[in-house]
Amino acid sequence: MPGTLTSIEAYQAAILAAITPLGPTSLELAAAEGCVLAEDVTAAVALPSFDNSGMDGYAVRAADVAGAAAGAPAALPVTGEIAAGDIGAYRLAPGTAMRIMTGAQLPAGADAVVPVEWTDGGAAQVAVYQPAGEGNAVRYAGGDAAEGETLLTAGTRMRPMQIAVAASAGRKAVTVRPRPRVVVLSTGDELTEPGTPLVPGRIWDSNSYMIAAAAREAGAVAYRRSVVPDDPKGVLPALEEQLAHADLLITTGGVSMGGEHDVVKEALRELGTVTFRKVAMQPGMPQGFGVIGQGGAGGAGAKRGVPLFTLPGNPVSAYVSFQVFVRPAIAALQGADDLSLPSLRARLTGPVRSPSGRRSYLRGVLDGSKVTPLSGQGSHQIAYLGRANALIVVPEWETQLPADDEGKQHLVPIHHHLG
Ligand code: AMP
Ligand code: MG
Repeated sequence: MPGTLTSIEAYQAAILAAITPLGPTSLELAAAEGCVLAEDVTAAVALPSFDNSGMDGYAVRAADVAGAAAGAPAALPVTGEIAAGDIGAYRLAPGTAMRIMTGAQLPAGADAVVPVEWTDGGAAQVAVYQPAGEGNAVRYAGGDAAEGETLLTAGTRMRPMQIAVAASAGRKAVTVRPRPRVVVLSTGDELTEPGTPLVPGRIWDSNSYMIAAAAREAGAVAYRRSVVPDDPKGVLPALEEQLAHADLLITTGGVSMGGEHDVVKEALRELGTVTFRKVAMQPGMPQGFGVIGQGGAGGAGAKRGVPLFTLPGNPVSAYVSFQVFVRPAIAALQGADDLSLPSLRARLTGPVRSPSGRRSYLRGVLDGSKVTPLSGQGSHQIAYLGRANALIVVPEWETQLPADDEGKQHLVPIHHHLG
């Protein structure tokens, strides 16, 4: 059996080779958050587009306050007041000051702003207690970006900061690859909807909620569908029903190592477009991936085919599989290059074991630069998964690692902000 394992990298490459980014679409800024730019955004005007004040204070000529001191203030008549948004064309006469607010246009002739804190705050005349050099508290036109400068490049994910940049560039809408629509179906006769009573022999379905949530966290719009029973005849119709409104399909369960209840495997095998592999990892060895619905009727989504992941049923296996394989696929659908979870290195506070020839993703608690492996590492142990905030990655060639083996492990935090 070990000889038949596919490496994680080979499997990831096969997946990414089969993914075509979604077509670009124009979305208004409010809807573009989390989407990935399919165009460059350039500055329609210089940023800022006019010289303005960086503080509340007085616009002056630096030369007029050059000799100011606490004991010998410069006294200047105040000839007006300029507020932010005031579009008047003001001119500062030599030897005078104008009250000015943050963001207000600098009057012609002024070359510095004296912060109000350096003055007596006078209305008709102001006493300036300290000199302000040329350019003090002035925000010059183009100081942030020149007109026509590229502010955001295609491939950038529109996070709040980038939304602000596009808005500052005057853009109402941007051309983006939208959030992929992901549909999640869990399979299994044992599954019961949370909120309904449990009878012995059954469990509440957690996978579909978990994977839909993980897909959202990875930038998708995710929907979960009700549980698919272990009936091979029902699996394909349940998937086909989703083709028209999914960019990616995910099932969990029914793909393990060859029981006759592996209904997902059984139902999809005859299609010939979904490949089932044993991947050199733990948990998450049994994996299926392919594209279904190519060329078929049923909407635009069905024509290009919809990528399908069949994840293993054990919740921890499903979670790890999602992070290692599905997350990069969701990013690829958006044409984004932020594919993998962020990783870092930390010190193990306890020993870990790992099967030879398979990469382990063990659940751990990361605290600063130390990580503590959890005692419950079974792939069904969802309670332990809920205590973890990191996955400890043990390479294929290691079978055990001692505690405090500094620098040998790298960690993949589970809780992360989308990059
Ligand atoms: P399977 O891959 O279908 O053989 O399932 C493997 C294990 O995962 C079994 O113990 C299942 O009961 C469990 N399992 C499968 N699907 C789910 C689910 N949606 N939620 C929680 N546990 C599940
Ligand atoms: Mg099952």
